[in-house]
Amino acid sequence: MTSNQENFLNLIKTEKVCVMIAPSFVIDFEYPAIVSMIKKLGVSMVTELTFGAKITNVHYTEYIQDHPDQKYYIASPCPMIVSIIKAQYKELIKYLVPVCSPMGCQAKILNKIYPDYKIVFISPCRAKQTIEAKEYKDIIAETLTFKELKELFDQYGIKENDFENSDEKFDSIIESTTKIYPISGGLAKSAGLSNFIKEEEILIDDGIIKVKNILNEIKNGTTKYRFFDLLNCNGGCIGGADLNNKALTNDEKKSKILNYKQQMEKIIHDYKNHSHDVEDVDFSRKF
Ligand code: SF4
Repeated sequence: MTSNQENFLNLIKTEKVCVMIAPSFVIDFEYPAIVSMIKKLGVSMVTELTFGAKITNVHYTEYIQDHPDQKYYIASPCPMIVSIIKAQYKELIKYLVPVCSPMGCQAKILNKIYPDYKIVFISPCRAKQTIEAKEYKDIIAETLTFKELKELFDQYGIKENDFENSDEKFDSIIESTTKIYPISGGLAKSAGLSNFIKEEEILIDDGIIKVKNILNEIKNGTTKYRFFDLLNCNGGCIGGADLNNKALTNDEKKSKILNYKQQMEKIIHDYKNHSHDVEDVDFSRKF
C-alpha cells in the first residue's frame, strides 16, 4: 500500500472527505457507479474537476484581455511542462499564464464553499500528485491516482457491477464544456481562446519530444504562434501515467470522454452554478 493510500484511509476514518476527480476517470471507471464506489470507501462528497477547469478558463481569457501585448502565453495546467520550463527554459517562465490549474481552482472553490471538508484529488497524473499538489498543501489533504483508487476498490472488494443500477450523481459543481480538458487542446477549445487570439496563433500539441522542440522555438523566437496549449503526455492527460486502461487507443479514450460529455449535457442544468460564490477567491498563481 502506498503512503497516499494509507493517508487517505486514515483521513476517511476521522474526517468528512470531499473528492474532486479528473474527468478522464471515464477511461477507467463507469459513471455513475464511480460515485457510489468512492462513497463506499467512506467518502462523504464526490465532485468532478470540471467546474475548476471552467474557472481556470475564465481567468485565462481575462488574463489575455488584460495583457494583450504579451509576446507569448504558455498554458500552465500541466506540472511537467511547468517543471521543464522552470528547470531548462528559465527565460520562458515569464510567459507561463499565472492562473491556477483546474486542480488548484477546484480546491480553492471547495475550500470556500465546503470549509469543513478535507479535499482529496484523484487523477491519472503522477506529476500532479508529486509536484503540483505541494502548491496547495494547505487545502488539498491527499491525492490518489486512478491506479491507487482501483487498488483500493480491489482491496475492499468494491466492484463496479454491484453499482450498475446506481442513480447516484456527483454532489456538486460540475461543468459540461470542460469535460474535454483531458484531451490535447481541451483548454484552448473549451475556453474558446480563438475569440481572444487569432486561431492561426494558437498551437496545440502533446508529447515531451514535440513540446521540447516547441519550447526551443519559443526560446529562439522562431515560432509563428503566440498561445501554446502543451501537455506532456501523448494525447494529453488521456495518456497519463497512472491510468489503468492503458490498452485502449487514444481514439478509444477520446470517444469515451466525448460520449460521457454528451450523456451529461442532459443533466447539467440540475446543478447550481457557484460562480458568484467564488468571485472573491484569488485564482492567480506565481512561478
Ligand atoms: S499531460 Fe500528463 S503530466 Fe501533464 S497534467 Fe496531464 S497527465 Fe499530468
